[in-house]
Amino acid sequence: MTYVIAEPCIGVKDGACVDVCPVDCIHTTDEAPIYYIDPDECIDCGACEPECPVTAIFAEDALPEQWTNFTQINADFFKK
Ligand code: SF4
Repeated sequence: MTYVIAEPCIGVKDGACVDVCPVDCIHTTDEAPIYYIDPDECIDCGACEPECPVTAIFAEDALPEQWTNFTQINADFFKK
Protein backbone atom coordinates (compact mmCIF):
# COMPACT_ATOMS: atom_id res chain seq x y z
CA MET A 1 0.00 0.00 0.00
CA THR A 2 0.96 3.65 0.09
CA TYR A 3 -0.19 6.96 1.38
CA VAL A 4 -1.61 9.41 -1.16
CA ILE A 5 -1.79 13.21 -1.36
CA ALA A 6 -5.14 14.43 -2.68
CA GLU A 7 -6.93 17.55 -3.91
CA PRO A 8 -6.75 19.70 -0.72
CA CYS A 9 -3.01 20.14 -1.37
CA ILE A 10 -3.71 22.12 -4.54
CA GLY A 11 -2.75 25.74 -4.00
CA VAL A 12 -1.40 24.99 -0.50
CA LYS A 13 1.74 22.85 -0.78
CA ASP A 14 2.49 23.42 2.87
CA GLY A 15 5.32 20.91 2.84
CA ALA A 16 5.14 19.92 6.52
CA CYS A 17 4.79 16.31 5.38
CA VAL A 18 8.18 16.40 3.71
CA ASP A 19 9.93 17.20 6.98
CA VAL A 20 8.55 14.19 8.82
CA CYS A 21 8.82 11.49 6.15
CA PRO A 22 11.52 9.07 7.35
CA VAL A 23 12.29 7.78 3.86
CA ASP A 24 12.18 11.13 2.01
CA CYS A 25 9.62 9.91 -0.51
CA ILE A 26 7.46 13.07 -0.81
CA HIS A 27 8.42 15.26 -3.76
CA THR A 28 7.22 18.05 -6.04
CA THR A 29 8.47 20.68 -8.48
CA ASP A 30 7.88 24.43 -8.52
CA GLU A 31 5.43 23.98 -11.40
CA ALA A 32 3.50 21.03 -9.96
CA PRO A 33 0.18 21.77 -8.20
CA ILE A 34 0.68 19.40 -5.26
CA TYR A 35 3.21 17.26 -3.44
CA TYR A 36 3.36 13.59 -4.41
CA ILE A 37 4.19 10.41 -2.50
CA ASP A 38 6.33 7.81 -4.27
CA PRO A 39 4.32 4.58 -3.85
CA ASP A 40 7.41 2.44 -4.34
CA GLU A 41 9.26 4.14 -1.49
CA CYS A 42 6.49 4.88 1.03
CA ILE A 43 6.67 2.52 4.03
CA ASP A 44 3.14 3.30 5.25
CA CYS A 45 4.36 4.73 8.53
CA GLY A 46 1.56 7.31 8.65
CA ALA A 47 3.78 10.09 10.03
CA CYS A 48 2.81 12.55 7.31
CA GLU A 49 -0.96 12.27 7.67
CA PRO A 50 -1.46 14.30 10.89
CA GLU A 51 1.09 16.92 9.79
CA CYS A 52 -0.98 18.13 6.84
CA PRO A 53 -2.79 21.38 7.76
CA VAL A 54 -5.48 20.79 5.12
CA THR A 55 -6.04 17.03 5.58
CA ALA A 56 -4.85 16.14 2.10
CA ILE A 57 -3.04 12.91 3.01
CA PHE A 58 -4.78 9.55 3.29
CA ALA A 59 -3.88 5.90 3.36
CA GLU A 60 -4.66 4.58 -0.11
CA ASP A 61 -7.53 2.44 1.14
CA ALA A 62 -8.99 5.34 3.13
CA LEU A 63 -9.13 7.89 0.32
CA PRO A 64 -12.50 9.62 -0.01
CA GLU A 65 -14.22 8.29 -3.11
CA GLN A 66 -13.99 11.56 -5.06
CA TRP A 67 -10.21 11.52 -4.75
CA THR A 68 -9.36 7.90 -5.55
CA ASN A 69 -7.86 9.06 -8.86
CA PHE A 70 -5.07 10.71 -6.86
CA THR A 71 -3.51 7.29 -6.28
CA GLN A 72 -2.64 7.26 -9.97
CA ILE A 73 -1.77 10.97 -10.04
CA ASN A 74 0.79 10.47 -7.25
CA ALA A 75 2.29 7.38 -8.94
CA ASP A 76 2.47 9.04 -12.36
CA PHE A 77 4.65 11.87 -11.02
CA PHE A 78 7.48 9.37 -10.50
CA LYS A 79 7.23 7.75 -13.93
CA LYS A 80 8.69 10.70 -15.81
FE1 SF4 B 1 6.56 9.07 4.16
FE2 SF4 B 1 5.42 7.60 6.08
FE3 SF4 B 1 3.96 9.40 4.74
FE4 SF4 B 1 4.78 7.19 3.50
S1 SF4 B 1 3.34 7.30 5.23
S2 SF4 B 1 4.88 9.27 2.70
S3 SF4 B 1 6.79 6.86 4.45
S4 SF4 B 1 5.71 9.84 6.10
